[in-house]
Amino acid sequence: MQALEVKPRFIRMHDADNVAIVSNDGGLAAGAVFANGLTLVDRVPQGHKVALLDLKKGAAVLRYNVAIGYALQDIPAGSWVHERLLQMPDARGLTGLPRATVKAGVLPPLEGFTFEGYRNADGSVGSRNILAITTTVQCVAGVVEFAVKRIKDELLPRFPNVDDVVGLEHTYGCGVAIDAPDAIIPIRTLRNITLNPNFGGEVMVVSLGCEKLQPERLLPPGSFAIVDERKSAAESALDVVCLQSENHVGFMSMIDSIMQTATRHLERLNARRRETVPASELVVGVQCGGSDAFSGVTANPAVGFATDLLVRAGATVMFSETTEVRDGIDQLTSRASTPEIADAMIREMAWYDAYLQKGLVDRSANTTPGNKKGGLSNIVEKAMGSIVKSGSAPISGVLSPGEKVKQKGLIYAATPASDFICGTLQVAAGINLHVFTTGRGTPYGLAEVPVIKVATRSDLARRWHDLMDINAGRIADGEASIEDVGWELFRLMLEVASGRKKTWAEHWKLHNALVLFNPAPIT
Ligand code: CA
Repeated sequence: MQALEVKPRFIRMHDADNVAIVSNDGGLAAGAVFANGLTLVDRVPQGHKVALLDLKKGAAVLRYNVAIGYALQDIPAGSWVHERLLQMPDARGLTGLPRATVKAGVLPPLEGFTFEGYRNADGSVGSRNILAITTTVQCVAGVVEFAVKRIKDELLPRFPNVDDVVGLEHTYGCGVAIDAPDAIIPIRTLRNITLNPNFGGEVMVVSLGCEKLQPERLLPPGSFAIVDERKSAAESALDVVCLQSENHVGFMSMIDSIMQTATRHLERLNARRRETVPASELVVGVQCGGSDAFSGVTANPAVGFATDLLVRAGATVMFSETTEVRDGIDQLTSRASTPEIADAMIREMAWYDAYLQKGLVDRSANTTPGNKKGGLSNIVEKAMGSIVKSGSAPISGVLSPGEKVKQKGLIYAATPASDFICGTLQVAAGINLHVFTTGRGTPYGLAEVPVIKVATRSDLARRWHDLMDINAGRIADGEASIEDVGWELFRLMLEVASGRKKTWAEHWKLHNALVLFNPAPIT
């Protein structure tokens, strides 16, 4: 049999770019000739950059029409342009930035799209009907895990409308400088996770008793009270099982208390039904992890297209990952819908710059060995590919880490880029759906919110066929457009939010831990 003819292909992101990435599976050998006549001087792995013309020492290397680095030596056309040949540019300063200068045309509204969700008493809508058991401190984690297993085995079968029971376990709560100014971040994160729309406003807490984060500090009166005619005033009080309570004699009495309390909440959750709600009730968090050079070519642009569809439908969509957008700060501040929103973004970035500086690093500490193997030379190149997840809509709000979103439109939720910390903070921000793109591949999932995973390459989508929900690699293969995959993702979001489809992470019950962002000292 004759071997299939391999056509050498590269992808250039902008007409002004002097490098492009090799898109063929497995990369290309030296001597390969592209359709435009360019011949490879070196072997170039898939996703890595090739010089499209002769680059002189010191020349700006352009991708996305942005200088991702400066040539450290003369680089002939057809050469492999890898990180060792590039000097990384300094971070853009945070003064003199354009503020709300892009007068983006208003995107045409998108009407008529709905999903089936659980309407909560506070007006928010859940995509799942989950009992969450909040914990105030890590000390109780083992007990809660034991109780959750018993609840799943013995109680859940009696409440078929409840999707799951989740113990909100974490490492905070004691042994921490709880009065430090930055302690507000982990505390409000935990509070707002408890109030995520997927938990139906049913708040129950397991506390140890002697911990620094007392239940009333975590959930002060008024912070969680949801006006609900189904509950009496007593029922609306904070529902706490305290393990050190004198009522508890022996381990099993603690488990019995948790199960009795859980039963009351399960009864109310079980009585709920899905109802048709407009797509504007979606609250979607987007992020990427295990990125490669295709992230910014296939999956992230498709997510960006879907982000615009969500904004057009009146929904809320948030992008995050401060170190991965820091190098595009001028693009973001110019897209802010008001100068005040631009200022809020600058404030968040300045806070994060200072946070990194305290640890004697900068945003370049972000890139991983896998990123580099996937063709991303540095954080500037990674950021340009990451930022496209935000689409083209004006940025209409900014959240500090752990804050809860209160508005529609495109929101910048400032979080670290760490997958599990970003996911945790987006759950606190109130997402009912999570979209996650990956090039290297990660089995990431959350127990609290469905995670739709988008592969950047067909090779990954083929090998991880039962872990990836969408293959955006078809864009690089020329089989689908960015718009096609963006629409496919948008429609899948409605299906998943409605509970009609489960994501692969849900199917296999792949759940990463909640990981709190705690910039305050530990004692
Ligand atoms: Ca991430």
